[in-house]
Amino acid sequence: MEYRIETRCIHGKEQMIKQHPFGTVSVPIYQTATFSHPGIGHSTGYDYSRESNPTRSELEEVVSSLEGAFDTVACSSGMAAVTLCLELFHRGDHILCTDDLYGGSVREFETVGRKRGLEFSYVDTSDWKLAERGIQKNTKALYIETPSNPTMKVTNLYKMKELAKQHDLLLIVDNTFLTPYFQNPLALGADIVIHSGTKFLGGHNDTLAGFLSTSRESLASEIRYLYKTVGSSLSPFDSFLLLRGIKTLSVRLEKQQSNALEIARWLQDHDKIEDVYYVGLPEHPGYDTNLAQSRGFGSMISFHTDTPETARRMLEKIRLITYAESLGGVESLLTYPMLQTHGDVPAEVRERLGITDSFLRMSVGIENIQDLIEDLEYALS
Ligand SMILES: *Cc1c(COP(=O)(O)O)cnc(C)c1O
Repeated sequence: MEYRIETRCIHGKEQMIKQHPFGTVSVPIYQTATFSHPGIGHSTGYDYSRESNPTRSELEEVVSSLEGAFDTVACSSGMAAVTLCLELFHRGDHILCTDDLYGGSVREFETVGRKRGLEFSYVDTSDWKLAERGIQKNTKALYIETPSNPTMKVTNLYKMKELAKQHDLLLIVDNTFLTPYFQNPLALGADIVIHSGTKFLGGHNDTLAGFLSTSRESLASEIRYLYKTVGSSLSPFDSFLLLRGIKTLSVRLEKQQSNALEIARWLQDHDKIEDVYYVGLPEHPGYDTNLAQSRGFGSMISFHTDTPETARRMLEKIRLITYAESLGGVESLLTYPMLQTHGDVPAEVRERLGITDSFLRMSVGIENIQDLIEDLEYALS
C-alpha cells in the first residue's frame, strides 16, 4: 500500500521509512563533502557529495514519491534545475514554450540557451491549436507552465501529451505554481517536471532550491550524469530545510488556497480593481481545464488596478503584506512583475501579455484572512 499524499509529505513512500542513526526522527544533516571507502573497490553507497549525499537523497526520494517520479535530482535553485534541463538538448534543437513563462526562464533561454545554439519560440499554449502550429521540424520539446506566470493561463496537459506523442517531443512542465500536492504532470504523461523548490515546497521564503523529476529510467540516468558533471547540487543543510518545509506542504497549501479564494472574491468586488486572474474562480477561462487535470488552484492571484497610481500606492501602503518578489511561502507577498520578475522580458511581449504598470501579482500566505483583507483595504484606500 502506498500512503496518501499528506503522509508522503512527511514520510515518503511506505517502504522508504528508514531507521536513522540513534533513532533520530528527522534525517541528520550529513555535512560532508566526501566519504571514506571501506576498502579498494568498496563504497558505502556515497562517494562525494556533488554526486550524492544521504540528506539530499532522502529529499529526492520524498519529492519523487510526491511527483510519482522514477527519479528526482535536487538542485541549488530553480534556475539551476532549468539550466540542467537545457543540457539535455543539442545545437539546433528547438523548444516550444508557453508564452508567459517565469521571467528568469525566458532570460536563461534567450541568453545562455541561444548562445549554446538552441532555439526557442513562445506561443499561447492555452490554445492547443496554436501550440500545434508552433511545432517545427527541429522541435524537440514542449516547455509548459500551467497556470502560467504571471497571467494564470491554463494549458491542457492531456492535449500537450497528445502533441508530444504525435511529434516525438519531450513534455516538460514547470509545476512550481501548483506543486505535487495539487498537480502531477508525470501521471498525465509529462516526461520531466521542474520545480523551483524555493517557492511552495520550501514554503518559508528562506531557502533556494530546485528539482528536476522524470518518469523515465533512460532520461533519469542521463540527468544523473549531467547533474554530477555540471554540479547543480543542493547543499545538505538546504536539503534538510526543504525536507522540513515539505512536511507541512499539505496544511500550508490548503490554508493558502482558502485565503486566496477569499481574497480573489474580495478583489473582484473592489471598485479600484479591474480584472482578477485566479484559476479558482469559476469564471476564469481555464477553470474547467485546470480542474480536469489537478486537485486545486493554488494561491497565486494577479490583477489589474484601475490606474498605475493605484498599483504604486498599494505597494507603498501595504503594512502586513510584503512588497517582494518570489512566492509560495507562508508570508503573503505582493509583486510588481513589470519591474521585478518580468523586468527582463521585452516590453512589447510584456504589453501583449498585459503585464503593464497597473498589473500586480499576489502570493497569498497563511496569515489570518481578516488581517490580510484589512491590509488590502487600507492599501487601496
Ligand atoms: C521562481 C521560479 C523559477 C526559478 O526558481 P529559483 O528558485 O528562483 O531559481 C522557475 N520557475 C518558476 C515558475 C518560478 O516561479
